[in-house]
Amino acid sequence: MTDRFAGQSALITGAASGIGLATARRLAQEGAARLILCDIDAAALNEASAELRGEALVIDRLAGDVADPLFWTHAQSTLTGVTLGVANAGIADSAPIDSMDFSAWRRVMAINLDGVFLTLQALFRAMGGPGAIVVTASVAGIKAEANTAAYAASKAGALHLMRVAAKEGAARGIRINAIAPGGVRTAIWEQAPFFNDLAQRRGGTEAAFAAMGEATPLGRFATADETAAQIAFLLSADAAMMTGSVLVSDGGYRL
Ligand code: NAD
Repeated sequence: MTDRFAGQSALITGAASGIGLATARRLAQEGAARLILCDIDAAALNEASAELRGEALVIDRLAGDVADPLFWTHAQSTLTGVTLGVANAGIADSAPIDSMDFSAWRRVMAINLDGVFLTLQALFRAMGGPGAIVVTASVAGIKAEANTAAYAASKAGALHLMRVAAKEGAARGIRINAIAPGGVRTAIWEQAPFFNDLAQRRGGTEAAFAAMGEATPLGRFATADETAAQIAFLLSADAAMMTGSVLVSDGGYRL
């Protein structure tokens, strides 16, 4: 491992599980001095913090809802000194438009789009100088699939919000990019009813991941560690000339 993030402070939302937790591990391995871990699941956040706590690493916990402006008002002082940000918290849903509850639509938009806006706003307010931010979007925001209306629209919105933020941040030396993963093996899939049906038919989540991986040209889903490595690249000086870009990491799914 390199020391690409030596001395830096990073905020990661959705840090208690999946891609966010893998990113926290990766930034710690690459020398980050301080991680500010945010998640709505306080118990899982405690577990993640306990796992990551190391002598050379300061961990701050922010338990709360990224979609709640009051949460960010209270969190703002904790963000002082932050140089890296990962707007990653998100939820999934799947339903055809004609049977989707409006409340379900609103909840996905609140967390996946309002939440990214509020995270970017808090980071912009906290960053006194140059920095780097990654938004975790999705290939669902690029390629249309049936039954993904809320999730897909929220991720397409997050991608364009990222581009606007990149224009606004550039003069201050803040780079903002997005990652658009395809399928990644994390717990988020258990929020999609069709995935649970598939898992039941195939005899478990592993078999369901394998079956869904077959719909990807490269033949498999990604691991959260692979996605975290790509987020780390976008945050690092290796991506110094990248801003407003989308790194599509979908095994060719969009093709
Ligand atoms: P995950 O469910 O393992 O992790 C998501 C984390 O976000 C959880 O710890 C959850 O508690 C937290 N969270 C949810 N709502 C929150 C809120 N309102 N406030 C704060 N924290 C909240 O799923 P993951 O796959 O690691 O998802 C991370 C991001 O990656 C999401 O934005 C997701 O849409 C995106 N993504 C995932 C995949 C995939 O296949 N797993 C593909 C493309 C994009």
